[in-house]
Amino acid sequence: MEISKLRESLLGKGYAFSCFDNSEQAVAYLFGLIHNKTVGLGDSATLLSMGVFQKLSGHNKVFDPQHCPAGESFMEVAKKSLSTEIYLTSVNALAQTGELINIDGTGNRVAGSLFGHEKVYFVAGVNKVVATLEDAIWRARNIAAPKNAMRLKLNTPCAVRGDRCYECSSPDRICNGMLIHLRKMDDMDMEVVLINEQLGY
Ligand code: SF4
Repeated sequence: MEISKLRESLLGKGYAFSCFDNSEQAVAYLFGLIHNKTVGLGDSATLLSMGVFQKLSGHNKVFDPQHCPAGESFMEVAKKSLSTEIYLTSVNALAQTGELINIDGTGNRVAGSLFGHEKVYFVAGVNKVVATLEDAIWRARNIAAPKNAMRLKLNTPCAVRGDRCYECSSPDRICNGMLIHLRKMDDMDMEVVLINEQLGY
């Protein structure tokens, strides 16, 4: 992977870009930037593994559907996360040409990454980086989505066989929408935080 090419592509599309050797450095960076804010988290195994909810909750009001307060449902917390000052999520794939891909079942993650915040951070390990937009779509569909289905123990052919997408019609299907970020959205800052580790799916 050529980080310099990825950086150049993302900067050219209006994103900020930062890169860290490990998760601890990335969490410290985010911890230092995000203070006294409302923060929404999009479902992300990467953010879960980094402990971002716990770290940021000390000095921010964080809404994470993966950490619902007692008495609040996933949907209630997910809706609150959409109107926060800051939003953090990850990506299913990141093309060196500067496009970001996410597949979503409920839609809160892709919705939160599009509108309504001061700034959106996309936090991703180097395992998400591929050469082209076509490769990124393939990765999102055939690697990220099946691995997420396996993680969630869903009854889908990709979770049972673990090798690729079968374009299923299962009631458990998690692939209902796919978002391609072609460039930074208008009127909102967006930053890609790349970490030189294998994180998420
Ligand atoms: S469409 Fe179905 S088989 Fe394909 S990745 Fe999504 S859940 Fe798995």
